[in-house]
Amino acid sequence: MKQNFLKLGAGLVFILIFLILLVFNCRPAGKIFDLAVVNGRVVDGSGNPWFRADIGIKDGKIVALKRRINQEEAKEVLEAEGLVVAPGFIDIHTHADRNILEIPSCENYLSQGVTTLIGGNCGGHEFPLAELFARLKKQGMSCNFGSLAGHNTIRERVMGMKMSPPTAEEMSKMKDLLRMEMKAGALGFSTGLAYLPGTYSSTEELIELASVLRETGGFYATHMRNQGKKIKQAIEESIAIGEKNGIPVQISHIKLADEEVWNQIGLITGPVEEARARGVEVTLDEYPYTATSSGFTSSFPQDVFEGGKEKFLERMNDPEIYQRVKATIIKNRLTSSRGIDKLSAIIIARSRKFPDYEGKTLRQILESKGQEPTPDNGADLIIEIVKEGDASAIFFQMDEKDVEALMKLPYTMIGSDGGLQEMGKGHPHPRNYGTFPRILGEYVRNRQVLTLEEAIRKMTSLPAQTMRLKDRGLIREGMYADLVLFDPETVSDMATFQNPHQYSRGIVYVLVNGQVVWQKGKYTGKKPGKIIYGPAFSGQ
Ligand SMILES: [Zn+2]
Repeated sequence: MKQNFLKLGAGLVFILIFLILLVFNCRPAGKIFDLAVVNGRVVDGSGNPWFRADIGIKDGKIVALKRRINQEEAKEVLEAEGLVVAPGFIDIHTHADRNILEIPSCENYLSQGVTTLIGGNCGGHEFPLAELFARLKKQGMSCNFGSLAGHNTIRERVMGMKMSPPTAEEMSKMKDLLRMEMKAGALGFSTGLAYLPGTYSSTEELIELASVLRETGGFYATHMRNQGKKIKQAIEESIAIGEKNGIPVQISHIKLADEEVWNQIGLITGPVEEARARGVEVTLDEYPYTATSSGFTSSFPQDVFEGGKEKFLERMNDPEIYQRVKATIIKNRLTSSRGIDKLSAIIIARSRKFPDYEGKTLRQILESKGQEPTPDNGADLIIEIVKEGDASAIFFQMDEKDVEALMKLPYTMIGSDGGLQEMGKGHPHPRNYGTFPRILGEYVRNRQVLTLEEAIRKMTSLPAQTMRLKDRGLIREGMYADLVLFDPETVSDMATFQNPHQYSRGIVYVLVNGQVVWQKGKYTGKKPGKIIYGPAFSGQ
């Protein structure tokens, strides 16, 4: 009897405490939301036409999406009248892993409305991921960040710059490293087959290595072996690697990068659509420019790099090898059957050894040295640059018609292929500052290549679906509140090839996990970014 009384008493006390807590919690004038975004036109990422709704945010997530939110219920209100409200853009193709520890503010991406950056593309990633993620978690960042695990990084660790196929032991070591990175949270496996040492690997090696993803999940992303005359074979190789392993294939920065194949989009859509019809999940990403950016080594015959830098320098002292290299560079980079001045089509973006070359074309550099601007002298200049550790350069090599045609494909998403930049440093490709606003201003508003809703889908739910992100890329209750508010009448990229360090216009507010990180042209300094882990990640 007495015990029952005690139980009853304790129960009553609990109920009383509960009621007091409830009253106290509701007291601050019924603030249900940390933030409300009101009166905007919502383009929700699905591709559906815009609709009017207010968005209520609590603890970093969207908790209400309805016609009207009582503004009294929100601690803070963002007025979005006249603005489009879209999910934060997800850039599936970046190299942000290289320096996100140094530039965790992600300003050149926030300013474009990008809230999630995926690094580790083109076969290279910051190894080991567990360490990178731990450091990032500790120091914080303003954007969300995830990474792929790169083949070149893994192969070089196990095999150095060997050209030969891996031994059974080397293969098993590479698989262990890939498995380790997948378990650390990689979203997939990337290759860069135009780069070292990926260029030395066979299709069989890649099929075997990618088989790790059968156990771990994740997707295969590839910078293909060839994006010019042999692009069809390269696409078929990419598809084979995914198809043999039953994993999705993402073809990176899709382009027809050689004037010999311009306007032959069927070389891409043919094999891709056949594969999709067979049930192979193949998707593409693209940036909206006619110039690429990379180093010069992929223009060389690849065998001269075997064994590493010293061997390469030794070989270049052999006049016969030197001439062979020169001929290859002239053929790959400096000749045109359409009469294009190739020396003016290459700009040096960043060079540690020759900073005064930055922003100049090869023609301008040769002229400033008092040399004849000939392909021959151009090739000597390129060899000199690579001997001194290479430089990153910008190469004009695509046709605008192809850029548009590839963009319209329903399975093409937008990816910048850029990286984190410090304002004013070097002479980077403008895609680092302008990719996403350029799509919205140039390709949606000015040229009407895409509808606004379709463009947003390619920047949000399509990459989210490709990476199987369940809580980003759409505006829905329960999703993370990554949002961009922009003015559809003025949004535009300002970065140019001549003057790349320029923030875009018309991106008014950017929210990452419910917090405002970009406000009317200014970075707010908040660091709400989270790590985006892949499917095999277990621990926190
Ligand atoms: Zn690439």
